[in-house]
Amino acid sequence: MMTMSTDPPYIGSATENLTLSNPSCSNDSCKAFYDAHQLSQKLTPYAQQFDYGHYVTWFYLACIGCLTVAYVWRRWNRFIFRRGGRRIEPCPRRIWQWLVSVWRSFAYRRCSGWISTRFGLPSFGILAFMVLVILYCLLLTFWQRPYYRNHRGYGSPPLAVRTGLMAVALTPLLILLSGKANLVTMLTGIGHEKLNIFHRWVGWICFLLAVAHTIPFIVAPLKDGGYKALHAQFYKPGGLEYTGTPTLAILFGILVLSIPWFRHRAYEAFYHIHFWMAATYLGLMFWHCDNNGDSWAYLWASLAIWLATIAARAFWFNQSTSIVVPRWLIGSSVTAKTHPDNMTCLRIVAPVGFHWSPGQHIFVRIPQLNFFDNHPFTIANAAKLGSSDNDQQTLSLYIRSYGGFTRRLRHYLLSNPDAHLEAWLDGPYGGHHRDLSVDFDEIVLVAGGGGISAVLPWLDFVMAKYRSHKRMQVRSVRVYWSIKQKNSISWISDVLLRLRLYELPSFVRFQVHITHDEDTLDEKERKRLVLQQNTDDETDQESISDQYPWKNVDLGLDICSGRIDFASVCSSHDLVPDSRMVILGCGPEGLKVDLSNAVAAAQTRVLRGEVAEIALWTETFGW
Ligand SMILES: Cc1cc2nc3c(=O)[nH]c(=O)nc-3n(C[C@H](O)[C@H](O)[C@H](O)COP(=O)(O)OP(=O)(O)OC[C@H]3O[C@@H](n4cnc5c(N)ncnc54)[C@H](O)[C@@H]3O)c2cc1C
Repeated sequence: MMTMSTDPPYIGSATENLTLSNPSCSNDSCKAFYDAHQLSQKLTPYAQQFDYGHYVTWFYLACIGCLTVAYVWRRWNRFIFRRGGRRIEPCPRRIWQWLVSVWRSFAYRRCSGWISTRFGLPSFGILAFMVLVILYCLLLTFWQRPYYRNHRGYGSPPLAVRTGLMAVALTPLLILLSGKANLVTMLTGIGHEKLNIFHRWVGWICFLLAVAHTIPFIVAPLKDGGYKALHAQFYKPGGLEYTGTPTLAILFGILVLSIPWFRHRAYEAFYHIHFWMAATYLGLMFWHCDNNGDSWAYLWASLAIWLATIAARAFWFNQSTSIVVPRWLIGSSVTAKTHPDNMTCLRIVAPVGFHWSPGQHIFVRIPQLNFFDNHPFTIANAAKLGSSDNDQQTLSLYIRSYGGFTRRLRHYLLSNPDAHLEAWLDGPYGGHHRDLSVDFDEIVLVAGGGGISAVLPWLDFVMAKYRSHKRMQVRSVRVYWSIKQKNSISWISDVLLRLRLYELPSFVRFQVHITHDEDTLDEKERKRLVLQQNTDDETDQESISDQYPWKNVDLGLDICSGRIDFASVCSSHDLVPDSRMVILGCGPEGLKVDLSNAVAAAQTRVLRGEVAEIALWTETFGW
């Protein structure tokens, strides 16, 4: 039986099926529609909305430009220092120091508690910058009115066009911020690992703009003629609503899979899926934008940046496929040692011509274990001072075992102690854009557990410079290392023996904090520790036998129990009013949060004129 609908039949909106270019479209309603269309376009031109893409582009280019100027200025100061000159300050020194410390007392601060450690919330400074960016985008989105035209047939809603173009204009930035071989790093000195957070935020802003772009395209036909008008508009031949839907969906998919909860669970799977989804997204964007206005210019720029990044990584940074010093598909020889508490130390012969600076990391691929595993590790020693391309150098890596590659590596080494491994190296990447030894009077290095690998290269570097009487600003170095168990000292005992810290007690002080001292543990913790030590004993016989090579040797360490007191870390009394201090920290998220807040609070010392600067730099073993 046929069902009779009580809804009035859809007769179309005033705009439907009108082809304005059709000469027979000459009746009154057609003419009225034509005039209204012209007026709407005159008042809010479609082409003008494309300018919003330019406003977004200028904004981020200006940000990169400012950071570039700051970087060039720092490099220039360093150059002057090396030639024996004095630093140039941007405005009267005291005012500048005051402004910087006021900003740092806010910007270094971080939320403490589980929300911060779980979600890895950035510092207030980064949050403030992102709020500024979001406000700017909101202003561009909602300032100009009207958001809609009277009818969908008068043209695309202006709100939709400009937000769409703003999202498209962010695509080159999104790709620019993602690469390991990174143009922004070249210009600003900020490593890709630090830029990664902006890559993620820009991704979300891009998505929100894409949603703001989509909504008016749904609302406008709905207002005109309800669901049927929307349906007709969606399936109209050449309609951008149709091509935009999978594009938006894939962007959403990329963002959801990038949430730390997914990312940290299966990083390798995430990485490969992310790459191919991003490539698909870019392809869909070409289809969706359909070369309207200058939209494809952004997409061609994105593609060019992406291909350049891939090529630079493959043929410049990747040491086994590099065209700079060709040694095609040849790896570097690895010597490995396992230590207690899940630490493995690799010493890798550096390829000829490989140069690095303290704080940089490399990606390591060991084809014998798994060709597709490629993981970043900080180079834990400094390059020989004044070394030439032909000097043979060794890279030290300290690798903490987790669930994937790092665990496989450790198991392999424990069951094949004499195995010869070869590693393909890709890098060096990232690092610190300031030379701490010439920019500061005191360097304070703070590490928690495996974070020591980010601290050691600086210690090694400064000690080498000190011993070879190179010109430095730094007058003293303090190291604070927090570990759970005393036997973790054996991880770095050979480095400490080599550095002979005890010879220079007035220059370097190294404090080790044992946080799980057996005397102060409660019953539960003691049991866990004994269990862990037993596990180490079972799996790690070789390293246990030489676990305490430093037992009867003076390593120049000051060993104490309990946590590091970050307030006292920031309050050196050796400094005179004009001196500068830098604190570099690496370790668990909680340690970095507490350290950041302590350094933010210590800015009052600068405001009181006790010191000229207290800077902070934290390293993150992940993104
Ligand atoms: C710039 C940088 C420097 C690092 N330096 C060191 C170091 O000196 N010593 C050290 O022990 N660790 C370091 N790490 C961390 C190290 O890369 C990871 O612990 C390692 O990749 C884990 O591998 P897995 O397969 O065993 O991890 P899984 O058990 O699969 O995962 C453990 C954790 O490591 C993360 N992870 C896994 N693979 C990668 C990857 N390819 N890139 C980034 N994160 C990953 C996961 O998100 C997860 O949070 C560094 C990380 C970065 C980003």
